[in-house]
Amino acid sequence: IFVVFEGGEGAGKSTQVTRLSEALAAAGHDVVVTREPGATDMGARIRSLVLANGEGADAPSPRAEALLYAADRAHHVATVVRPALARGAVVISDRYVDSSLAYQGAGRTLPVQEISWLSSWATGGLKPDLVVLLDVDPGVGLSRVTDRGAGADRLESESRSFHERVRYAFLDLASADPKRYLVLDAARPADEIADAVATRLNAMLSE
Ligand code: C5P
Repeated sequence: IFVVFEGGEGAGKSTQVTRLSEALAAAGHDVVVTREPGATDMGARIRSLVLANGEGADAPSPRAEALLYAADRAHHVATVVRPALARGAVVISDRYVDSSLAYQGAGRTLPVQEISWLSSWATGGLKPDLVVLLDVDPGVGLSRVTDRGAGADRLESESRSFHERVRYAFLDLASADPKRYLVLDAARPADEIADAVATRLNAMLSE
């Protein structure tokens, strides 16, 4: 089973990825936790290229950025995700294709159909079984992240409307394919979110 967590900045994805992986591992499942960008050695180098702006480096042009994320994803799927799925593991990824549709497509205003095509070429068409979308108001999410000091310059260099476009792109993707999505309000207590995710996963694993 392939589970993906998506959401804007400060949505609490990493907390929920950890909670779910611990619960599944405790129940005896083989669990692989991974993320985009940056799960592999090559991916870590790509991550530092795409996220270097705000630290004095040039920001990649939007099309270069889209290709770098696609390269990270192609390598990640081929070397981490597919092998783990093939041996029967539950794979939990922090971000996947929807992040590119939302950030490079809606955010950078590249044609979403082209990002979709590029992503499916990169992944060989691998789709998640479930996408957990942690929906957060950008004002709330960004203040959570910048309070932690993480990447504040880079994130604040994007306009509020950029982050709003990203948010609504995620929500539109979810409403276009509701069976594949679990949309949760990221403002709810972490325990409630973790319970809702675990309930959905348990139902899927007992099917
Ligand atoms: O989720 P994480 O904080 O690791 O993501 C790092 C950053 O990469 C996010 O701030 C997001 O803005 C950016 N990103 C992106 N396009 C993607 C994936 C991530 O712009 N496809």
